[in-house]
Amino acid sequence: MSQPLTMALSKGRIFEETLPLLKAAGIVVTEDPETSRKLILPTNDPVVRVIIVRASDVPTYVQYGAADFGVAGKDVLLEHGGEGLYQPVDLNIARCRMSVAVSAGFDYASAVRQGARLRVATKFTQTARQHFAAKGVHVDLIKLYGSMELAPLVGLSDAIVDVVSTGSTLRANNLVEVEKIMEISSRLVVNQAAMKMKRERLQPILAAFERAAAAIA
Ligand code: AMP
Repeated sequence: MSQPLTMALSKGRIFEETLPLLKAAGIVVTEDPETSRKLILPTNDPVVRVIIVRASDVPTYVQYGAADFGVAGKDVLLEHGGEGLYQPVDLNIARCRMSVAVSAGFDYASAVRQGARLRVATKFTQTARQHFAAKGVHVDLIKLYGSMELAPLVGLSDAIVDVVSTGSTLRANNLVEVEKIMEISSRLVVNQAAMKMKRERLQPILAAFERAAAAIA
């Protein structure tokens, strides 16, 4: 008998860009999470189902085995720490960069050079802490959960650390990208126990994902 498989995905860009990879593995999600209120979506394969969770929760569902595998951004994985997860494939999807941005008038170079204490608002506190520690810059980190772009505009922080794709959100809010921290893409994550116990069922899917991702790169 086939073992059931549960895949964790977040709505939006990751879901959309994972669909072609699933298709390469012969899997078609038969309901649209943008219009359906269901959190568990069926696929054309009776043993494969997709659960829709918040992007930052994907590693947690997979770590505890509530999902066998999933797709998570490197930004999210760095914050989570990656415990209990295999990360066999960089899928080369949902690409963007993690950057430091400030208000257009703010002299970031001088603030950093003069050893000023920088107030940095971000959802990505681990990544931000490591980045500024490596540069020897003193920072006060302010944890936010959304719309980081607002923080420098209303005096909550001097700078933000956020993911940037086209840069249009920064421009629309009169912010300037002053430093790129790293390139970001989404990775396949697999529960370590599932990798052993459900290897037979998972392996063809992982192989198809790997081939499709290589074609994107
Ligand atoms: P953009 O205006 O194209 O630079 O997009 C920036 C906004 O979209 C930011 O507020 C980000 O939170 C979000 N964003 C863009 N790309 C990604 C991604 N790959 N993963 C998560 N969030 C993203």
